[in-house]
Amino acid sequence: MKETILIVEDEKDIVKMLEYNLKKEGFKTLSAHDGEDALDLAGKEHPDLIILDLMLPGIDGLEVCKTLKKESKTASIPIIMLTAKSQESDKIVGLELGADDYVTKPFSLRELIARIKAVLRRAKEKDKLPEILKIGELTVDFAKIRVLVKDKPVELTAKEFELLKTLIKAKGRVLSRDYLLDTIWGLDHAIEIQTRTVDVHVRTLRKKLKGEAGHILTVKNYGYRFEADED
Ligand code: CA
Repeated sequence: MKETILIVEDEKDIVKMLEYNLKKEGFKTLSAHDGEDALDLAGKEHPDLIILDLMLPGIDGLEVCKTLKKESKTASIPIIMLTAKSQESDKIVGLELGADDYVTKPFSLRELIARIKAVLRRAKEKDKLPEILKIGELTVDFAKIRVLVKDKPVELTAKEFELLKTLIKAKGRVLSRDYLLDTIWGLDHAIEIQTRTVDVHVRTLRKKLKGEAGHILTVKNYGYRFEADED
């Protein structure tokens, strides 16, 4: 699947140039011309990386960065800031706020692309699942695609396993039904009947997980998340 990069920049020429070149590199792109759009798109589309210009009309880039890192839905999305030379201190604030890297304007395209690839690589490393996950009585063996509850094997369908894995991988982040549909079923247009597919699968998955079903939490009118901590 192509990785999606959200470009947040009000200078349309830069956006166009980045769109063109990132597509050439095999990425999918989205773009936002102001901070509000950026927050909206990041929450809805969950891109793999965000290129964030700090100088934006309305909500500025640092504020956007802060908000993205605060929201559980978007906190894990890597951010590369675009800064001007004169914004030396903003750069430091941005990194403190959780941005992953920065590139100073005017930037070389080749450098930016190298940074993008490095940040995506690091993010993937961080995302890697352990081969076996044990939480309470639940054991998920990702290598063998096996699930045990109280040491007894649980028969899951491929989609149910994929659903469980996707939820676990999100590390507590809330995943929307649309996101789950798109990731697991690859349906682009989530109409009513299709979004219900997710609910149906969650229901059977919970039934099969029995006493450990409580790890899958429903977030009303939105989606689901996996809670590793037991209380
Ligand atoms: Ca700008």
